[in-house]
Amino acid sequence: MATTDRQATTLALAHALSAAERGLAVIPLSRTKLPALRSPHRDDPTAPICHGECGRLGHGVYDATTDPARIRDLFTAAPWATGYGIACGLPPHHLIGVDLDTKSDTDSSAALRELALRHLFTIPDTVVVLTPSGGRHLWLSGPPDVVVPNSAGRLAPGIDIRGAGGYLVGPGSRTDHGTYATAPGTAHLAPAACPPALLRLLLPPPRSHHPTPPSTGGHGQGLVQFVLAAHEGQRNTRLFWAACRAYEDGIGPALVDPLIDAALNTGLSEREARATIASAARMTGHRP
Ligand SMILES: [Zn+2]
Repeated sequence: MATTDRQATTLALAHALSAAERGLAVIPLSRTKLPALRSPHRDDPTAPICHGECGRLGHGVYDATTDPARIRDLFTAAPWATGYGIACGLPPHHLIGVDLDTKSDTDSSAALRELALRHLFTIPDTVVVLTPSGGRHLWLSGPPDVVVPNSAGRLAPGIDIRGAGGYLVGPGSRTDHGTYATAPGTAHLAPAACPPALLRLLLPPPRSHHPTPPSTGGHGQGLVQFVLAAHEGQRNTRLFWAACRAYEDGIGPALVDPLIDAALNTGLSEREARATIASAARMTGHRP
């Protein structure tokens, strides 16, 4: 048993190192698919929020790295690891995981096809990982300046999204339920770019504090307000969303300056704001 586990750990490490070579940041996982290393702060309820600033290991997805020496350190500290997780949302791939579940009685693959038909996108050829329970993970690559949040069942029942702060169980991982493996013919692929129409579905919808905002300033003013109300963690996402809407509605060029002003107000730099708006323009098929 112990020997089997050691072999599983060695194998997981080998898979993790190979994923890292492709630019994917990894952490060791236990058989339960959770990060193998527990938080060094778990016994200290008064500890301030730490994402690894303390220098120790055990900060979940914040430990994720592509550095082989660091990966070996992580696995040495977690000799019970039998798998590895791949952090989403990090450069260079800005990985987005589309997790198609089979547990629910709904057909999540059919739900995704239906979404694709309704929103006019096609699922590109990309890495597909088969899960032991019969589910599938599609790996997509997001644009660098957009934060895709994690969500469960928001897109459709049985479809979970792994975005920033989330991770995907890497192919070759062994868990209590079985082994994860790439679908035949997809292992060599790079994560394909997420179709813009799908990406827009993954971004949070605007949430107004007023159920029916007064229509004094019109649609453009609403988009500007939406950006102005952004908290620090959502500034770029909101700006991107608002700019996409503006371009789709034909007021993109007119709204560039007001949106940049709003973004500066939230603390984004002008360079960041212009890059995000340019990206939204490209996404929606316009010239930045
Ligand atoms: Zn810490």
